[in-house]
Amino acid sequence: MTTKQFSSSSTNAVHAGETREKYADSLTTPIFQTSTYTFKDTAEIEAYTKHKKDRFEYGRYGNPTEKIAERRLAALENAEDCVLFASGMMAITTTIFAIVQSGDHIVITDDCYKKTLEFCESYLKRFGIDCTIVPFGDYELMDRSVKSNTRFIFSESPTNPYLNVFDLEKFREIGKKHDVITFIDSTFATPVNQRPLDWGIDLVMHSATKYFAGHNDILAGVVLGRSDLISKIRNLHKALGGVIDANCAYLLIRGLKTFPLRVKKQNESTLEIAHYLEGHAKVKKVYYPFLESHRHYDIATGQMQGGGGVVSFDIEGDLETSKRFIDALEMMYIAPSLGGVETLITHPALVSYYDYTRERRYELGITDTLFRLAVGIEETEDIIADLEKAFASI
Ligand SMILES: *Cc1c(COP(=O)(O)O)cnc(C)c1O
Repeated sequence: MTTKQFSSSSTNAVHAGETREKYADSLTTPIFQTSTYTFKDTAEIEAYTKHKKDRFEYGRYGNPTEKIAERRLAALENAEDCVLFASGMMAITTTIFAIVQSGDHIVITDDCYKKTLEFCESYLKRFGIDCTIVPFGDYELMDRSVKSNTRFIFSESPTNPYLNVFDLEKFREIGKKHDVITFIDSTFATPVNQRPLDWGIDLVMHSATKYFAGHNDILAGVVLGRSDLISKIRNLHKALGGVIDANCAYLLIRGLKTFPLRVKKQNESTLEIAHYLEGHAKVKKVYYPFLESHRHYDIATGQMQGGGGVVSFDIEGDLETSKRFIDALEMMYIAPSLGGVETLITHPALVSYYDYTRERRYELGITDTLFRLAVGIEETEDIIADLEKAFASI
């Protein structure tokens, strides 16, 4: 089967990974809603089993709609191969289990997705897999933390909610020096803004729930990299079984068509909003990697094409001020998640860190007046007008 691949992301987002001729001359990708696949006769079974003919057998081992989504994502990330999962967490956990075994060790930075850290800290220990958590950005300590039984080093970039950026070149060098796998969660960046594989990183994962799907309507996850690593992960995936279904894969394919357009718009809008916030008298601090005031501005602009669609900011006042501010918003929704077409705002202290004591939250830098804004694709001035109204109410 000859599938197409082009040099531009926008074109790949619409066409990559698919044949020109589709079932029943359909223009769009058919949804193969089937759990199993038929064999015409015993010769066909043998062609598949003995002679390794490339075809589908059973739903957990693959589906044509899913396959097209995987090839399209691989083209966008410039990866040899790609495997899709039912969620971002399924992608992370399956990948980790495919790489490590009892007695192994991993190194992870402390500024990672909460559930990723929880999985590494609590669950891996039960299987005799040790984990060292190093402060984000302490490359020297990361380097020193690698032991003879270390299998991989993991980081996220940019991170939530302060949009810290990890130096991909330093990350690659540590991995190369010790011959360990470098694995990065690039969800916040997307391949429009950052292509870690081009920087020599071994494995990239995304919560495709966010920018790739882009419409806040599905959960999906993806891991990309060299074929030898991906086939190891795919084999375990077939046993663990956290596969994406055909309808979901279709919605992902549909979302991907506008993915580069959306992210470019979100880059522009978010930078403009970040400048607006930085100039606001009621704002104490703004966190956006493409603002010169950001602690990682140089690393960000050196390895990223755009700052992405998330900006965080700390306002003047206290918890009560924060509640009044967020309750006064009319267009954007109060909701977790990011990367979709709708602008969403979260108050980390009341949502993701509600069960922490105030002291612990402040140690982590999660203040009572911190907000994370996940910018959608609405007109920038309408988003700013919504914020302006909320500022007027405090
Ligand atoms: C959302 C998210 C995840 C988890 O992905 P799910 O699709 O929700 O399972 C992992 N990492 C980052 C950075 C995320 O934003």
